[in-house]
Amino acid sequence: MNTQYSVKMRAAKDKDHRLGGKHISGAERIVDEAQLEEVCKSMVRRALCHPKGKADFINITIQNLEGKSVQYIEALDISEPHVTNRIETLEYVEKVLNTFKIDTRVLEKLQSIQDMRGAMLLDAYTLERLDGLDQRGVRVSTMDYNKELDIEGYLLKYGFTGKYVKDAIALSSKVASAPGVLLELCWSDDPLYTTGYIAGKSIGYIRLNHFKPIQHQSGGRIILVDTHVVKVDVLVEYLQNQAVIINSYPLMVEAK
Ligand code: AMP
Repeated sequence: MNTQYSVKMRAAKDKDHRLGGKHISGAERIVDEAQLEEVCKSMVRRALCHPKGKADFINITIQNLEGKSVQYIEALDISEPHVTNRIETLEYVEKVLNTFKIDTRVLEKLQSIQDMRGAMLLDAYTLERLDGLDQRGVRVSTMDYNKELDIEGYLLKYGFTGKYVKDAIALSSKVASAPGVLLELCWSDDPLYTTGYIAGKSIGYIRLNHFKPIQHQSGGRIILVDTHVVKVDVLVEYLQNQAVIINSYPLMVEAK
């Protein structure tokens, strides 16, 4: 078997992230040695052509995964409820939250997020912040699709172009596979992109048109956790460092 490598990119404007630079873009892959150079090249391109601006600082970290455990998981199913405006979308999301007995004020928390690099981990029942990582939050990383899958071609057949859905499905499938995670809510950093999602093991990846307010400048990601099931440090370690390969195509299913 070929040696696999984890490749992580993060890009910032004006200053490095560690010095408070503005986050522009991030990307994660797990690849064979033969793919390393090409993958780094496309990450640089992404950082230089992002709608949030042209990155000034681009960090690429490459880690050899030899000797590390790799977990194989299924992709979440994708569904897309028919909603025509933000009010309908929020009603839909509130119904989902109610079925999980989660306080709908989590939506206010999502909207209050400003320029975080990672996700907020919140207690699913008290909405208390769990990760203690302030603006950094938890970076879900070290995941990718099985390279035998033509995931871009597959998604294109259903009208999904670009990297957003592909990356979001990989990330949300890893998050949903983690112990103790009930739901994840997300909207993008891109000020012009109002589609977001709510995802979880039992509901799949529900793509939400009109979720983010128009011209809202900040992206946001919240992971709702049942702390009776998992310890926070164990969950953070899984989300950040466990290598995960997604081994199947996401099925397109009817929205409930
Ligand atoms: P994006 O979907 O890349 O536009 O990111 C939307 C928001 O999700 C960002 O503002 C971050 O707060 C968060 N985020 C982005 N990438 C990650 C990641 N790898 N892990 C956790 N949260 C992330």
